[in-house]
Amino acid sequence: MQITISQHAGFCFGVDRAVKMCAEIDPDTPRPLQMFGNLVHNETVVENLKKQGIEIIKSLDEAKEGTVIITAHGIYPEVYQEVEKKGLHIIDTTCPKVILVHQLAKKLQAEGREIIIIGDENHIEVKGINGAVGWQAKVITSVDEVAELDFPADTKIGVVSQTTQDLEVFAEIEKALQEKFTDVKVFNTICESTRGHQEEAKKLAQNNDVILVIGSKSSGNTTRLYEICHELNKKTYWIDTAADLEDDWFAEVKSVGITAGASTPRELVEEVAEKLKEFC
Ligand code: SF4
Repeated sequence: MQITISQHAGFCFGVDRAVKMCAEIDPDTPRPLQMFGNLVHNETVVENLKKQGIEIIKSLDEAKEGTVIITAHGIYPEVYQEVEKKGLHIIDTTCPKVILVHQLAKKLQAEGREIIIIGDENHIEVKGINGAVGWQAKVITSVDEVAELDFPADTKIGVVSQTTQDLEVFAEIEKALQEKFTDVKVFNTICESTRGHQEEAKKLAQNNDVILVIGSKSSGNTTRLYEICHELNKKTYWIDTAADLEDDWFAEVKSVGITAGASTPRELVEEVAEKLKEFC
């Protein structure tokens, strides 16, 4: 059985950077260390952070003293203001590519455009982008929602995307917006890492008998990888760890492709590849 691991499987640049920043926190940094939300949607990583003394908080009300850590997804301005008001220390691991999306959205708004964010409105990254433009953006996730936008046809529209969006969905929405409005300026802010990941996943799904997608069920980008692979290869299985592998998935299988979400540690990917050898 031939096993091919996606080159992109494992942490993306932004998550890797944030995990390293957390690992290198100076011992003199004010305690407790409190992360506002999950750094990544992966239980193994969250457990490791807890071992480093970092607790996860869901609201700033929980932070009375010490340090607040902002995750790689970025955050909205009110959080920075509140942290400053409370006199807390801050460690900001926001991915530079997410900061760029904030800047582009603000630039479009300064041009007098209505901002549309293609993404999941409940995702912290999208809230951060929306917060950067004063919560004035409309957030849409599907092409059907374009019809529901009630701006006049000559409204100046500015579009950005959540960095982990599906490329095809983005293209469909962009086309529908260009057809509906006369002045649409688009910044495709889907991150290169996401693009490479999705494109490679497609190739793997087309060229292997079985596909394994590794990552947490709460990870948006892992969900999209699964959907992309499953669309092209019905023998696509979504697992959290090597322990989820099932013998009967591999009967008479000659090739297996492995991919993993941007929040999945590379070690988990290698553990799965190692375990797979037992099924050969
Ligand atoms: S997906 Fe891209 S933009 Fe998002 S955290 Fe990773 S590297 Fe940064």
